[in-house]
Amino acid sequence: MRFRYTAWLVVKLLAAVLITAAIYAAAQVKTVQDTFDGILIGFWMLPMLFVGMVFLAVRDQRFRCRACGRRLRMPVAEGNYGGMLLDHPGTEYVCPYGHGKLRVEVWISAGEPPEWTQYGDMWEELFTPRAAGPTRSAPPE
Ligand SMILES: [Zn+2]
Repeated sequence: MRFRYTAWLVVKLLAAVLITAAIYAAAQVKTVQDTFDGILIGFWMLPMLFVGMVFLAVRDQRFRCRACGRRLRMPVAEGNYGGMLLDHPGTEYVCPYGHGKLRVEVWISAGEPPEWTQYGDMWEELFTPRAAGPTRSAPPE
């Protein structure tokens, strides 16, 4: 299940590499140029653009479902900003397909990584055949 989550990160990083390489190729920037523009663009601007795209890809990955790779939705504020020891403030996101939830702490010294809670298959009990239970009878007339 975690394959899609990892595959999305790989696709985004490959896109960052390809975009940067395409700009290098389109601008015909050589890595070793002694002109001011060549050094400015080839040595400073494009690497900064690449690092920015990698940063955005990793930041976007943080708010994706660990099972299916979709963006997490429905943020709910939890906790109490006055609670210094217990009940820390945070935001909770859920996967729209019910795979799990992510709790991101909003805390000054929040060094802990976001907590992912995996849910079981919520549709499983709907599709399992019922054992011999009460049979449905016709409604009374
Ligand atoms: Zn999901």
